[in-house]
Amino acid sequence: MMQTDCIFCKIIAGQIPCYKVLENDYALAFLDIGPISTGHTLLIPKTHVDRIDQCPPDILAQTAQVLPQLAHAVAAAVNAPAFNILCNNGSAAGQVVRHLHFHIIPRQEKDGVFTQWPAFKYPEGKADMLCQKIIENLKK
Ligand code: AMP
Ligand code: ZN
Repeated sequence: MMQTDCIFCKIIAGQIPCYKVLENDYALAFLDIGPISTGHTLLIPKTHVDRIDQCPPDILAQTAQVLPQLAHAVAAAVNAPAFNILCNNGSAAGQVVRHLHFHIIPRQEKDGVFTQWPAFKYPEGKADMLCQKIIENLKK
């Protein structure tokens, strides 16, 4: 179902142009208009869902089906030995366009694209407590 104020729904409907690289009954992939690396591509479901935790599993599966081949083709097009798949969910996570999308970001050695990975260690007992909460949430 199209959401009229959604820029990606407008791309799907052909109302806004894009550099299309893949289209099937369920999904569309096109170059990101503001790439963070050469070849940066977006994969979206044709059905409008805001984010992955609101996505019916069958729609997610249909969209993700093309991801291995697409990611390989994107990386190969720019001779990239590596790539990131990124999915921002919610504004605090950096999501600007509220139509589920997967970024395919080709990577070169030492390209400086992501320079921070703020890893830390859990204090004693925190990991156990978190596990229990997540396991409980999975039952809901
Ligand atoms: P996000 O921050 O995860 O919501 O990413 C949204 C992405 O969509 C950004 O990387 C934008 O550059 C990209 N974008 C926004 N509008 C367009 C458009 N019309 N065509 C292609 N990419 C777009
Ligand atoms: Zn949409």
